[in-house]
Amino acid sequence: MTNTGSGLLARLRQTLAPALFGPPVLAFLPALTLATYWLGGEAALLSVALGLPVLIAATGGFSKLGGSSLPRDSVTGMILRDGFEKETARIYEECADSDLRSAIFVLELDDYKDLADRHGQEAGDRIMQHCGAQIASVLRQSDTVARIGDSRFAIALAPTLQLDLELCIQLAGRMQTAAEEPVPLDGTTVYMTSSIGFCQRNRAPATGANDWISSATTALAEAQSSGPGGIRAFSADMSGRGNSRTNLREEAAAALEGGQIQAWFQPQICTDTGRVSGFEALARWSHPVQGLIPPSTFLPALEEAGLMDRLSQVMLYNALVAIKAWDAAGVHVPSVGVNFATQELRNPGLASRVKWELERFELPPERLCVEILETVMTDQPDDVVTRNILALSDLGCQIDLDDFGTGHASIAAVRRFSISRIKIDRSFVMKADRDPEQQKLISAILTMAERLDLETLAEGVETAGEHALLAQLGCGHVQGFGIGRPMPFDQTLDWITAHEAKLQDAPVIGRHTP
Ligand code: C2E
Ligand code: CA
Ligand code: CA
Repeated sequence: MTNTGSGLLARLRQTLAPALFGPPVLAFLPALTLATYWLGGEAALLSVALGLPVLIAATGGFSKLGGSSLPRDSVTGMILRDGFEKETARIYEECADSDLRSAIFVLELDDYKDLADRHGQEAGDRIMQHCGAQIASVLRQSDTVARIGDSRFAIALAPTLQLDLELCIQLAGRMQTAAEEPVPLDGTTVYMTSSIGFCQRNRAPATGANDWISSATTALAEAQSSGPGGIRAFSADMSGRGNSRTNLREEAAAALEGGQIQAWFQPQICTDTGRVSGFEALARWSHPVQGLIPPSTFLPALEEAGLMDRLSQVMLYNALVAIKAWDAAGVHVPSVGVNFATQELRNPGLASRVKWELERFELPPERLCVEILETVMTDQPDDVVTRNILALSDLGCQIDLDDFGTGHASIAAVRRFSISRIKIDRSFVMKADRDPEQQKLISAILTMAERLDLETLAEGVETAGEHALLAQLGCGHVQGFGIGRPMPFDQTLDWITAHEAKLQDAPVIGRHTP
């Protein structure tokens, strides 16, 4: 009975509140007062003057007005972190002595920094506006949404009686789908993914509202570490994992020396023949307690510790050992790609070290594919970086221009550095089979590459549709989860055997397929 009563009141509040507190009502207030006096005399005037504030208070109007006085983000119009903390503290208390439940969600766009770098800050703002509005559209008016970082939103649910883990996961999925709605920008469409961490009120540490927010943030970090588009619920055993940066730096350095950071290999396929045309070596940290840690977590720590050069030594060594092992097993893997960051390319001894390693393994330089980010070429590379790239291509290594389309490498730079192949960034490949705009961009890149006599590889190919389209458009090679995920060396031989067996049975998706 009481439940029905309070439900009715809540519904009444929701219906009346916008009508009562909107600017139009306030504008008509003087007229309303006058009319009451004329029609009903002093008694009516008195009852309106006293009754209206009571009605506003009863429908939660004063708290709304208070909320709106909190500082707001100029881009999304949302409250900021301080305001969110206040709101959360209120909800935390409200749930403390009752059966009411709530949850905090923290959502972050996975690719925001790249997008803002590529399209500019104004476009970044448009993206955040769009995502913010989308997220709000799947929530109730009484829930709180705030912008708490460049690409981060925090959501606190208004306390309710029915809220369990299942509902939270569903809601996180709905928010994710809403936030990932493509954004039209500069005549093209931008696709994004987002990660979400959340913490239910009854799972939050008993130490206050701020720790509740931190718990949701910890869950977000966990979601992000498992790759783009993750959702994680907070659990108490995650708390200990939020190591400080110093700890992480020291741990990562020890892991690199101790051999816990090794190369995993992701296959690349030739679209003409369907056969393996190479593998990319990607760093993975096999942590004895935490399991597999992706490079996005530990590369910044290694960079801070000045250990990127050491990482490239390990990765190069792993890659050359792998080529030798494939050769010995009689499987044909033409080349292996190794990533070299700017910090590694600044080492004046890099080219001679690579030469020495290739000689030691008795491997011809073309078996090694040096992957260099397009952004390295646009940041006015210093003399050592330039010399290294030139020396590596003179040596006979293939040079892949990584994440092509995210920087502004000039055609002159592509020529000067003897780039052999461009790796078309994942952002162009996403949903390419269903979006004509994406297809136009890919076609333009492929035409340019053909004119410049460059090979092409598309990254992040996740579906058979994307694979088929890229083959039809004439992209030379493909790489992505849809073909094979990065795997430890031990699994590569089985993977190659299974792949070759599939080729025997199936027609090749390729340019020359009848
Ligand atoms: P990258 O060089 O662009 O590598 C491709 C990344 O995309 C890899 O992420 C790979 O796992 C992921 N990927 C591949 N296919 C798909 C797909 O279909 N869908 C999606 N969503 N992702 C896909 P990973 O291994 O996490 O590496 C991230 C970045 O870290 C790399 O991006 C590279 O820039 C850097 N990195 C990795 N290993 C090394 C290394 O040994 N040295 C240096 N300097 N950087 C490295
Ligand atoms: Ca790469
Ligand atoms: Ca890439």
